[in-house]
Amino acid sequence: MHTMVRPLRWAMIGGGQGSQIGYIHRSAAARDGMFSLTAGAFDIDPQRSKEFGISLGLDSDRCYGTYQEMFAAEALREDGIEVVSIATPNRFHYEMSKAALEADLHVICEKPLTFTVKEAEELRDLAQKKHRIIGVMYGYSGYQMIHQARAMIARGDIGDVRIVSMQFAHGWHSEEVEAHDPGTKWRVTPEVAGPTYVLGDIATHVLYLAQLMVPGFSIEKLMCSRQSFIPSRAPLEDNAFVLMQLAHGAVAQLWASAVNAGAIHNQKIRIVGSKASLEWWDEHPNQLSYEVQGKPKQLLDRGAPYLEPEALSMDRIGSGHAEGLFESWANIYHQFARVMHAADHQDTKMLDTIIYPDIESGVDGVRFIENCVRSSDNGASWVDYT
Ligand code: NAD
Repeated sequence: MHTMVRPLRWAMIGGGQGSQIGYIHRSAAARDGMFSLTAGAFDIDPQRSKEFGISLGLDSDRCYGTYQEMFAAEALREDGIEVVSIATPNRFHYEMSKAALEADLHVICEKPLTFTVKEAEELRDLAQKKHRIIGVMYGYSGYQMIHQARAMIARGDIGDVRIVSMQFAHGWHSEEVEAHDPGTKWRVTPEVAGPTYVLGDIATHVLYLAQLMVPGFSIEKLMCSRQSFIPSRAPLEDNAFVLMQLAHGAVAQLWASAVNAGAIHNQKIRIVGSKASLEWWDEHPNQLSYEVQGKPKQLLDRGAPYLEPEALSMDRIGSGHAEGLFESWANIYHQFARVMHAADHQDTKMLDTIIYPDIESGVDGVRFIENCVRSSDNGASWVDYT
């Protein structure tokens, strides 16, 4: 096993001053000293991008106006960047990821990875050809209780999986907030957000949790009904229901919403097996509910010695204290660093053992979106999953 001797030289595109998600990227990447912020093109406005980079303590000659300038200049340096995180609105993800791979960089990209499966597969093929890694920022997948659930389900603790119930249904956009909030406005603008709003923005998160927790999670058929309760958002939906037929006779449902008035986040996943169920809720991420039919419910706690090693390996402070989204993201960035280091050293054995939101999970998220749109455009009919 290779040990990292120095942090990876890391850059950001997007995530500028006032962005929603830039700060947690920087915080997570910095946490274990495995990435060192070296350069950036942080903002759509070149001047603001440079000023923000300098305010973060970067050398002014590593603060760029555009990502194209950054890739060109960094390629000429011996100490040039090795990996880039892309935290811009969706419409740039494909072109920026492609340009980064062509510049021989590893990529960490926000979800949804691309607008189409064709684009996502093209990135996958390019990454393979270049021996580079693409990580996708499904930021809830680093919670240790998700990995506890994964281990318990694999061991058969809940029996055969019958039902997967997923929801990510918040209420923050119950009104037309985009009229005065640019961060919401682009999310309901097809040219910037892509073919969907809540399906791409939040459904893909909880879908990835299901894929992580349930071995062999595989959709065979699906039907999707989507609505725009704020009419100006059409054709993009602010609410969607998806029913799925899974392999081995299991079924699933997913509710994604931005108009669930009064709800904070309401990201929940419940896996129902033939003997018991497991349930996790991101507003109480340190607990996992284990419910065996006919017995009192058990609430398993993060950091407790009875957890599986896979879960405990992600623990940062021991039991008692609360952990949260920042720890989940730090765990994911930690895995990104390990897998990128393994790729740099052609350590194929290591590459196969590291669990992280990889390019396949990015492609799968976009595939889910495409199938949902096909079904809803067909009068919410059942469609074969392609
Ligand atoms: P935002 O609108 O708050 O911020 C976007 C940032 O990108 C801004 O700083 C903007 O100036 C910059 N930017 C835009 N175009 C650029 C360009 N061409 N070059 C350089 N910088 C550019 O958006 P946000 O809410 O931070 O979302 C950004 C991405 O992160 C989206 O893809 C979104 O889906 C994703 N996101 C993910 C999570 C998660 O949990 N993983 C949470 C929120 C957002």
